[in-house]
Amino acid sequence: MKLILLGAAGSGKGTLAKKITRDFGIPQLSMGDMLRDIASSGSELGKKIGEYQNKGILVPSDVVFEVLKERLSQKDCENGYILDGFPRTIDQAHLLAKVTEVDAVISVELAFDEIERRLAARRTCPKCGDIDNANYEGFTGNCRKCQTPLFQRDDDKPEAIRTRLEVYKQNITPLINFYGDRLFKVSSAGSPDETYKPVYDFLKTLEA
Ligand code: ADP
Repeated sequence: MKLILLGAAGSGKGTLAKKITRDFGIPQLSMGDMLRDIASSGSELGKKIGEYQNKGILVPSDVVFEVLKERLSQKDCENGYILDGFPRTIDQAHLLAKVTEVDAVISVELAFDEIERRLAARRTCPKCGDIDNANYEGFTGNCRKCQTPLFQRDDDKPEAIRTRLEVYKQNITPLINFYGDRLFKVSSAGSPDETYKPVYDFLKTLEA
């Protein structure tokens, strides 16, 4: 099963992807994480990628597409995958269509004021990549999985948040139109489990 997850930064698509991975056994290919890994390698390319990411603007599509193709060629992608954070623009959707057809596109939808609230309170684990939210019950500032102190990503600071949401707004409509017939919309206004339920049911019918 090949899936795309669309959704703004902070809409909860990463959290949803992790649940799909758990239940359907296909890997989550997070473009943001892959690019952050390259950025932290310290290479020349990595430095450039890091500059784009910290500002909240898009890394050029040719670079991103090379990263994606490399990842898709790995063995764990044989039975499908969840694309999280790719495509983000209509030109990326056209690039993807040249190499594969996806089965379904899940669009995670949330009002922008709620997104801004969630992102500003989002904290990330530098060690295992888990994310938490300073407004959630039981939040201590340490990772719930590995106890490492959490940090705030540079692009989760107010100015970069605004830029990321603007970039998203500019690009989402053409993508939604492009995938019209394969689109499944879900609201993430409720809890992570409430968001997941209809998606799980939909994927079960798709699988059958
Ligand atoms: P979020 O979805 O929360 O903004 P991500 O971790 O998915 O965070 O992405 C962070 C940054 O990585 C983006 O702001 C952008 O700079 C870069 N990036 C991720 N995916 C893409 C993509 N498909 N095309 C271009 N840049 C990307």
